[in-house]
Amino acid sequence: MSTEILFADLGLAQPLLRAITDAGYTTPTPIQAQAIPLVLAGGDLLAAAQTGTGKTAGFTLPILHRLSEHPIENMRPGRPRCLILVPTRELAAQVEASVQTYGKHVQLTSMVMFGGVNINPQHKALRGRVDILVATPGRLLDHVGQKTVDLSGVEILVLDEADRMLDMGFIRDIRKILALLPKQRQNLLFSATFTDEIKVLADGLLHKPGFVEVARRNAASELVEQSVYMVAQDHKRDFLSHLIKQGDWKQVLVFTRTKHGANRLAEKLIKDGISAAAIHGNKSQAARTRALAQFKDGVMPVLVATDIAARGLDIDQLPHVVNFELPNVPEDYVHRIGRTGRAGSSGAAISLVDKEEIKYLNAIERLLKREIPRVVIEGFVAPVRTKQEIERESERPPRRPQAPRGARPQARQGGDRQRTDKPRTGPRTSAAKPQAAPPRHARSHEPEIPTEGMSEAARHQMMADNQLRANQKKAELARHPARPQAALFSPKSGGRGR
Ligand code: AMP
Repeated sequence: MSTEILFADLGLAQPLLRAITDAGYTTPTPIQAQAIPLVLAGGDLLAAAQTGTGKTAGFTLPILHRLSEHPIENMRPGRPRCLILVPTRELAAQVEASVQTYGKHVQLTSMVMFGGVNINPQHKALRGRVDILVATPGRLLDHVGQKTVDLSGVEILVLDEADRMLDMGFIRDIRKILALLPKQRQNLLFSATFTDEIKVLADGLLHKPGFVEVARRNAASELVEQSVYMVAQDHKRDFLSHLIKQGDWKQVLVFTRTKHGANRLAEKLIKDGISAAAIHGNKSQAARTRALAQFKDGVMPVLVATDIAARGLDIDQLPHVVNFELPNVPEDYVHRIGRTGRAGSSGAAISLVDKEEIKYLNAIERLLKREIPRVVIEGFVAPVRTKQEIERESERPPRRPQAPRGARPQARQGGDRQRTDKPRTGPRTSAAKPQAAPPRHARSHEPEIPTEGMSEAARHQMMADNQLRANQKKAELARHPARPQAALFSPKSGGRGR
């Protein structure tokens, strides 16, 4: 990952070079070598780069340089000069930590802002000076609504992991935020992929941008040794314990498809004497932060996570990633294994594949354009279990008490891809009932739906939208009670809505 260029060649101020040395970096990564001079020159930037490439320092360092070179006397409180928008809480915390690391020798202040935590400390921080604000879109709009933040002084805007933000349904929020910013500003857009949606966003946002691109994760994954073990679903938990113990693994991130699966696996590992914790959207932010800190510090060797919870996690030199279940979206596999082999270090990505998952494996191999080596299982004897034991193990958690019908969110439409395409379809209203029952995404045995960067109002609106769709469907079924569901879509029966 290193280049021949030195940090000192990039034109950064001395206090920043000192912070880089303190951080232990010797040479800039390719994205840093390309992006830093462009951002220092003041132009807009479009960057194709993923987490793990060193992109955070790639935009943070030149931003710190530019802001400290042009200080503002008597800054108004709660009026940031730079706004960095990110999709998730964890990424927000990580980016702000980087701002502090690289900015430790300059006189600038930063603040992180995301939902799921008490808003009062954020109010307090906004009553002081904030040069750089790192925020998730939903909570930022909550502050805008409460007039506790003033975006009219933003000189530099960063959209980090823009594709993820669009995937999570934040396009409306982003547009609202853009409308509040001054026209004259520098814009930096980072995205791992370039869908048509991203291109439209970039076209509207960027003015004659410089373009930088570093190796896509598919290519970077040369650093990752990938392997597949064919294991029956019922034996995966025992097999994983066996692998961790036999290999004396010190740090492994395990991906499960559901929150319930993450909980059950963590419990099983603990029972087997392996320290582990699960992180997912049903865990409090404090529990997530604590588990992540213990995992990063090496106190707890196993972190079990859903895709959503793991998004944007930056854990240095993670040696092992395990796909306890394969994702049904092949690109998610690439994101998952990208948690290892980061910033130039090598890593291992191991997938435990049941025969039911072979179709997912085939799709992944088509995307990678290569076959992932199958490893023969040695030295593992699956324990014999009674039928009752197996049933007990796969038992679902008891449902939480349900709220009255009117307040209960309904099933989302549109398959099992973990997306929130349309968080709201109308203006924000207070029509939706308060969150009397956990939204569907909080039910832990179903794939997790990303909602965490959304504001409270958006969450309520999504619940109301779901309710409306469910009511419409119920009414449709009531009109045609005898017709089997499939017939609604069958041309033979006269087509939909006959
Ligand atoms: P990012 O892509 O920004 O999430 O960064 C990935 C990891 O690379 C982080 O843990 C950084 O601390 C690390 N990193 C960033 N720049 C460098 C560098 N020039 N040399 C070595 N590691 C770096």
